[in-house]
Amino acid sequence: MEYVIEAENLCKKYMRHEVLKDMSIHVPKGSVYGLIGKNGAGKTTFMRLISGIQIPSSGEYKIFGVSNRDRKITGTRKRMGAVIESPSLCLEMSAKDNLKQQYRYLGIPDWNGIDELLELVGLSDAGNKRTKNFSLGMKQRLGIAMALAGNPDILILDEPVNGLDPEGIIEMRETVLKLNKERDITFVISSHILDELSKIATHYGFIDDGHLIEEISAEEIAKKCRRSYTVETDDTSVLSNILESQGLEYQIEEEGKAIVFGDIDVDGIVSALRQRGGKIRGLYQTNETLESYFLNLLGNKDEGGNAK
Ligand code: ATP
Repeated sequence: MEYVIEAENLCKKYMRHEVLKDMSIHVPKGSVYGLIGKNGAGKTTFMRLISGIQIPSSGEYKIFGVSNRDRKITGTRKRMGAVIESPSLCLEMSAKDNLKQQYRYLGIPDWNGIDELLELVGLSDAGNKRTKNFSLGMKQRLGIAMALAGNPDILILDEPVNGLDPEGIIEMRETVLKLNKERDITFVISSHILDELSKIATHYGFIDDGHLIEEISAEEIAKKCRRSYTVETDDTSVLSNILESQGLEYQIEEEGKAIVFGDIDVDGIVSALRQRGGKIRGLYQTNETLESYFLNLLGNKDEGGNAK
């Protein structure tokens, strides 16, 4: 697999506070990589490091195979755009003027492409409006347009849907998916709104207390977060026998409670239990979500912070 961003044992200390601890990460080309972690886990710090805003205390990262220790990294970083924390906009200026400013900063000689950028992020009608009158969602999308000005292959977005209303969230999602598909842009997106991230991410990195505790594709997670049922009964051994005889995969959570994986014949199980004198006390579907997967992962890590 081709990785556009890789890091090995990346560390960042602020004074004596170690914020990133031996963080390793692999972002596949063309992916929408969701960086998931609680507040203070180190997501923004990682983004600041790879964007060149801050320097690692130790460890190494590579962008398109170029190491941060290589002088070529400055040029390579131009292939990457970022909106970290909040977009840097001049609120007194219009969206177009903000983009012109960005073009000047990047040394782009003409304004060709500004209208296309505004259209890409759904702001064609708002180009001449002052950005101080923009909604938060519009500001975020203008931030993305500014980050796109240098025609990057990677976009880094720090909490892009934070504070957005439902409409703003949908627009942001559509913008990301469109840019990923039509322009083949790789995204690294941090969020703690996991439900939203699960609608766009193709890969995930779970970060906790400065460690990347697991990297996994959306496909693998879908397999792990498969459908399951919780069956509660007064007779665990009878229930076990029935589940075994039906060839079902299950685990006994506690006395009287089993988790059964995959699709089940609910009526068949209930009547088989009744026939053998057992009773059903409860039966409900319990799919694992991205959120519960993450929470389980946090509860299942070893002392070094890695998933067990
Ligand atoms: P959030 O979702 O809240 O933004 P995060 O995962 O992005 O969280 P970071 O912003 O990377 O987390 O912060 C990680 C830790 O580093 C926090 O404990 C934070 O207080 C600390 N930190 C961040 N920036 C600095 C700084 N410039 N100086 C000192 N400590 C900092």
